[in-house]
Amino acid sequence: MARKLIIIGSGPAGYTAAIYAARALMNPLVIAGYNHGGQLMLTTLVENFPGFSKGILGPELMQEMRLQAENLGAEIIDRDATKVDFSSRPFKIWVEDEMYEAWAVIVATGARPKWLKVKGEKEFVGRGVSTCAPCDAPFFKNKNVIVVGGGDSAMEEALELSKHVNSVTVVHRRDELRASKILQERAFKNPKINFKWSHVVTEIVGDKTVQGVYLKNLKTNDVYFFKCDGVFLAIGHEPNTEIFGGQLEMDEKGYIVARDFTRTSVEGVFVAGEATDYKYRQAISAAGDGCKAALDAINYVEELKAKGIIKD
Ligand code: NAP
Repeated sequence: MARKLIIIGSGPAGYTAAIYAARALMNPLVIAGYNHGGQLMLTTLVENFPGFSKGILGPELMQEMRLQAENLGAEIIDRDATKVDFSSRPFKIWVEDEMYEAWAVIVATGARPKWLKVKGEKEFVGRGVSTCAPCDAPFFKNKNVIVVGGGDSAMEEALELSKHVNSVTVVHRRDELRASKILQERAFKNPKINFKWSHVVTEIVGDKTVQGVYLKNLKTNDVYFFKCDGVFLAIGHEPNTEIFGGQLEMDEKGYIVARDFTRTSVEGVFVAGEATDYKYRQAISAAGDGCKAALDAINYVEELKAKGIIKD
């Protein structure tokens, strides 16, 4: 039998949607993914999620959200949705060869870190190349590392790394940062953090682990070897929306187009969090989106009931 609501994704958007939908007795199923919990699972202290005066660890916050959703009646499976068919109702969602049906769907699949796409990058993942300083910084005790990027993530990564490493060199392609002023100030004041302005990484080299990178100075076009033990990438994100290709309207970068807050191009399919939001990208804004998407999905299901399309 088709469910009233399936939520795909389990970051702050997905779990918040599940909390609201469960309280509305929608018996939501959350297809949480193998890497459930979203990007906060890869962070340490979260200082800007309201309600925690001393901050809260990202994984702990996600575990609390998950338990809250489960305690209220949400069902959660920790596998990836692999295919969807939104062309007829009820909607169909596959988890490998298992098929689920639902009258309403909330897409909350979030985003993932972007890669530089330079030689050596994929080869040295886990052997010196990382997209997660909080996860990997302790492995680089007293080493010298670089962080690529000039946004908030890059500054956060650099600051986190500085607690463990000997030195952090931020490699940024322009000569000014786009990070918020407070993070810039903290990074500039930190004696372990240096900057290579107007530089890009052209290749990552090493043996068993990373031994250095080739850097290009964009002002002079000089390319030279720079010795380092680790390369942390913080150059932004891309949405996890591939499985919705051809099903939902997306922009040129793959973000799902939302109208009227959470509605997608398919009536009954709603979107929340970083699968649509390339601008704010905060845990709290994703949670807020999840709340809105759930309220919209609940109303939509009520309308279907009122029309006699589905029974209680
Ligand atoms: P971002 O703001 O998009 O910054 C990405 C950085 O990487 C930019 O400096 C960009 O350079 C650089 N970059 C992109 N592609 C590159 C490439 N191929 N090669 C070299 N450099 C490249 O991404 P983000 O830092 O992940 O932040 C995303 C959003 O999350 C932002 O809205 C941010 O405010 C938010 N965020 C907030 C916090 C916080 O409040 N504590 C923490 C993390 C993230 P250009 O500057 O030249 O474009």
